Amino acid sequence: MVVLVDTVSVNQVRPRHPEKVNRPDALSPPKPDWIRVRAPNTRGYADTRKIVKENGLVTVCEEAGCPNIGECWDKKHATFMIMGDTCTRACAFCNVKTGMPGALEAAEPEHVAEATFKLGLTHVVVTSVDRDDLADGGAEHFARTIRAIRERCPTTTIEILTPDFLRKEGALEVVVAAKPDVFNHNLETVPARYLSVRPGARYFHSIRLLQRVKEIDPTIFTKSGIMVGLGEERHEVLQVMDDLRSAEVDFLTIGQYLQPTRKHHAVMRYVTPDEFAGYEKVAYTKGFLMVSASPLTRSSHHAGEDFAKLQAARTARAR
Ligand code: SF4
Repeated sequence: MVVLVDTVSVNQVRPRHPEKVNRPDALSPPKPDWIRVRAPNTRGYADTRKIVKENGLVTVCEEAGCPNIGECWDKKHATFMIMGDTCTRACAFCNVKTGMPGALEAAEPEHVAEATFKLGLTHVVVTSVDRDDLADGGAEHFARTIRAIRERCPTTTIEILTPDFLRKEGALEVVVAAKPDVFNHNLETVPARYLSVRPGARYFHSIRLLQRVKEIDPTIFTKSGIMVGLGEERHEVLQVMDDLRSAEVDFLTIGQYLQPTRKHHAVMRYVTPDEFAGYEKVAYTKGFLMVSASPLTRSSHHAGEDFAKLQAARTARAR
């Protein structure tokens, strides 16, 4: 008898982004001097990693290949990514694995709460993959996670960075009812770039989502961000600012897009630190309470410090 072993399929590792493997390589220009990051090799980094792994958690810091991981984890600032490590969308900029995710882990909210406690976080950021496969897009899981953190760490403020819950009627309301302190939903880019950068999303749906959070609960801070260097024009960025202000968004972040692999969208341009400073200045004149614009700005970078500034800015404006 002859036994045939199919070594090809046995040894085949599923690619992280199956939808991108046949794309031609997209070449980006070399990184300029101002994109410099700290190597992830400190004691604080190792401690954070241990707590994350012990609680079986996924972080966007690792999955997205964030350039700030050395700095943030050294200070024990990790951003938890709930509902698995596999996303149902396939955005051209994102390094998170794509495909069909597994079932939700029922105990994950408590694990996130426990890790928040062990890391001693006074402000925690929780994000998720897109879960278009779930009837509520994962809204109830988000709400459960917020409640679990409140119970375990009553003084910790909670920031969530959510998907767009596109075509998930009533999902947003479930999340808002759990009362996060900050509701963040990123626009990612200007509307003209959506088709090539964020094809599964709709720009005005995202704007409306942010507006709706304020309509339901005006006490919740709202936040959104975009990446630049994806081929957008300056006037388009200014228009995004106006759109966000008409939705009463409080906090804007703008950072440089960095290409995770050659199969992802190319970096079209490195925006200079002076241009970022210019964006920040204009955004403040348009009425945002807080603006963070720099090459390495990311939604959750310095989120704790920024939350304190956000509160102070709201108080000052109310006077
Ligand atoms: S900026 Fe955010 S995603 Fe990046 S390492 Fe820091 S906490 Fe993680």
